[in-house]
Amino acid sequence: MDLTSVASYRRASSRDDLALAPGETYLAGGTWVFSEPNRDLTGLVDIMTMPWEPIEWSDAGLRIGATCTIARLLNEPARADAPAMALFAEAANALLASFKIWNEATVVGNICRAYAAGAMTAALVTLDATAEIWEPDGGVRTVPVAQIPVGNGLSSLATGEVVRAVDIPAAALAGRTALHKVALAELGRSGAVVTGRIDASGTTTLVVTAATYAPHVARFDALPSTADAASAARQATTFYTDALGSADWRHHLAGVLAERVVADLAETEAS
Ligand SMILES: Cc1cc2nc3c(=O)[nH]c(=O)nc-3n(C[C@H](O)[C@H](O)[C@H](O)COP(=O)(O)OP(=O)(O)OC[C@H]3O[C@@H](n4cnc5c(N)ncnc54)[C@H](O)[C@@H]3O)c2cc1C
Repeated sequence: MDLTSVASYRRASSRDDLALAPGETYLAGGTWVFSEPNRDLTGLVDIMTMPWEPIEWSDAGLRIGATCTIARLLNEPARADAPAMALFAEAANALLASFKIWNEATVVGNICRAYAAGAMTAALVTLDATAEIWEPDGGVRTVPVAQIPVGNGLSSLATGEVVRAVDIPAAALAGRTALHKVALAELGRSGAVVTGRIDASGTTTLVVTAATYAPHVARFDALPSTADAASAARQATTFYTDALGSADWRHHLAGVLAERVVADLAETEAS
């Protein structure tokens, strides 16, 4: 939609260009920025023109730059040493109206938007991703992606902070993953999503999103029983009610989905 209050648009090509004037905000793929009136905005700073590689591989793992669209990530060829890449496509399909936004929406924009149903957030948290944040005073800090969403649509980023990239460690990419979700409408926004990863050592990570305001992470030294997985998922503290489901429904479903994820992980472990 037209943003009628916006009077300026700048393409960023250097770090200096990222300094925000009052009323400005960052524009990545724009799938959210242009989806609402956003009447408090007077200027846009386009970060898609920053000279950042969308995808970079190293011995340390995978770096996804802030200019990487979901479609670009999904086009990355599969690698034998990174079976967990399969989680990206599953997460992309868990987004509402998924394929409509893949070509424009960025992976990093999804975590910055910080919706509870941020499926890229779900995948990145499950893979122990960290975010490199550029601070407005020139500093740089690194935080777990799990710490960025703090409410449904509320992030821990301060004004003028830019997520430069997210980094996924090679060890996490070597794990096996699973995702289960539920939505009230078949193609509707997810009401609850549970994702999981099992490493070669058996160490298992379960993550609840969409059902909770912020990601809920549970870790186990070995693949848990389905009962333990369900119990751990239901220990999340921020289940919420909205038009897409009630808190008690989400609480119940988080456990059911966790059982399914563990069953899937048990199969991949056995194969
Ligand atoms: C049809 C449709 C369906 C959608 N379905 C879902 C869904 O199921 N789940 C969901 O979570 N979202 C959904 N969205 C919302 C949104 O499209 C996604 O969250 C998307 O991933 C945002 O990425 P973007 O690159 O388009 O971000 P933009 O719209 O460009 O930006 C989103 C916000 O993040 C900020 N931002 C972007 N990049 C950075 C950065 N690098 N550093 C700091 N701030 C930054 C922007 O300033 C803005 O506030 C949907 C939107 C539409 C239109």
